[in-house]
Amino acid sequence: MTSTLRTAWTRHRQALGSRLEGTVLEAGDDGWADAVEVWNGMVARTPAMVVRPASARDVAVVVRFAQEHGVLLGIKGGGHHIAGTALAEAGITLDMSGMRDVTVDPAARLAHVGPGCLLRDVDRATQEHGLATVLGFVSEVGVAGLTLGGGLGYLTRRFGWGVDNLVEVEIVTADGRVRVANRERESELFWGVRGAGANLGVVTRLTFRLHPVGPTVHGGLVAWPFERADEILRAYRDITTAAPRELAVWLIMLRAPAAPFVPGEWHGRRICAMAVCWSGDPGGAQEALAPVRALRDPVLDLVGDLPYADLQSLLDDGEPKGNHYYWKTGYTRELDDGLLSTVRDLFAGCPIPCAEIGFLHVGGALGEHPEDDGAVGNRDARYVVGVNGMWEPGEPDADAFRRWVRDAAERVRPFTTGRSYVNFQTGDEGEDPVRATYGTNLDRLVRVKTAYDPHNLFRVNRNLPPAP
Ligand SMILES: Cc1cc2nc3c(=O)[nH]c(=O)nc-3n(C[C@H](O)[C@H](O)[C@H](O)COP(=O)(O)OP(=O)(O)OC[C@H]3O[C@@H](n4cnc5c(N)ncnc54)[C@H](O)[C@@H]3O)c2cc1C
Repeated sequence: MTSTLRTAWTRHRQALGSRLEGTVLEAGDDGWADAVEVWNGMVARTPAMVVRPASARDVAVVVRFAQEHGVLLGIKGGGHHIAGTALAEAGITLDMSGMRDVTVDPAARLAHVGPGCLLRDVDRATQEHGLATVLGFVSEVGVAGLTLGGGLGYLTRRFGWGVDNLVEVEIVTADGRVRVANRERESELFWGVRGAGANLGVVTRLTFRLHPVGPTVHGGLVAWPFERADEILRAYRDITTAAPRELAVWLIMLRAPAAPFVPGEWHGRRICAMAVCWSGDPGGAQEALAPVRALRDPVLDLVGDLPYADLQSLLDDGEPKGNHYYWKTGYTRELDDGLLSTVRDLFAGCPIPCAEIGFLHVGGALGEHPEDDGAVGNRDARYVVGVNGMWEPGEPDADAFRRWVRDAAERVRPFTTGRSYVNFQTGDEGEDPVRATYGTNLDRLVRVKTAYDPHNLFRVNRNLPPAP
């Protein structure tokens, strides 16, 4: 920690007479390495100090300090944002991992979730009651970061964005006040939090609406040779166009990993895989999945009955922490022939050994809300299309790989809505990334930001500047 920051911090605590319930870490302390590690190994940022708060009151102490002393403030939930926005270079990072409680109220179908929770904490706790909310499909991702940017997953087609299921938050705003925001109280703040939460404060509790799901669902992975890409991609379009809401199917073109569940002769070879989730009535699974089953001779087929919580962690090993990642994504409304042949050709010519190109299947309930129901918008999206590169630290072709991903994204771009998901942004999104993220909701969102964070304390994120 720089000595100036340390001195100012000590004075601040004395002046407030405040004692933190949580802990303060600096380089060399036990736990420091974990606290400053994020998922994308490409991120090179080191905070001067990490505070692990134990309560909203702790958070308020740190927020006031950062505001008064002009210290850069980062907030770490699960540390999975690709741009490493959890870490404040030479500033303070609030590592929320000490606030990881989940309380489920099955009668009210609500879950009260601490800001340090990972997806698996919530899925496991809610599944004990056969309930779930909309979360993503890699269980180590942070609930707060995912939800405050929108949040999508296998259940999106049934229940909308994650933030459509957010009932209330407790949040510490830039003035150091602990507020409760919902549709009735601090309703504009709550509106903004639903898609731009990282820009408006430190959320210290999230309350979610739950739905009956599982605990057993029907799903898993199935894959075919990439040589059959034309057939599989067209079938994917037909399947997802006709799919009921209870069915979500991701499509991923990748090289098969050398995993025990992949037949040895397919290790390293190109495949087209589908990740399937049927979360409806178990009796309807066979009929819903018949068009997937009609695609004969898969190279692997792991689709069957399994616990929903297991499905939510099935892809955990695919993108391990510490590798270098560079992604580009967009939303699409249709899978037209031009888009399908473009992604096929891109994957056929992709020089990155560990790349994934494919689609997340959303739509459904997402589009049932007005565009301005929460800042998140993008309710016309039926798919997310992504070009994802991964390589190990020290990769000599890293620059060329990044260029390739950017060029590939440019070829896909004409088929997209031109809009962008804040949770997938690398930070080089072009000229007006906030307009691309929030579209017609942007002007209202800037008013909310200006009212609650006029000096842009919360700027270690995909930043939405307040009005001057
Ligand atoms: C492997 C992988 C799989 C993914 N799968 C999905 C998916 O299925 N669906 C999906 O929608 N997204 C997915 N994402 C994207 C994910 O939603 C974002 O990376 C998200 O930002 C991760 O949240 P986090 O808390 O782990 O990240 P962090 O890096 O800790 O935080 C991300 C941002 O949120 C802010 N933030 C964190 N906690 C708080 C808080 N308490 N209050 C205010 N702001 C806070 C931080 O300041 C930071 O700017 C995935 C990402 C990865 C790497």
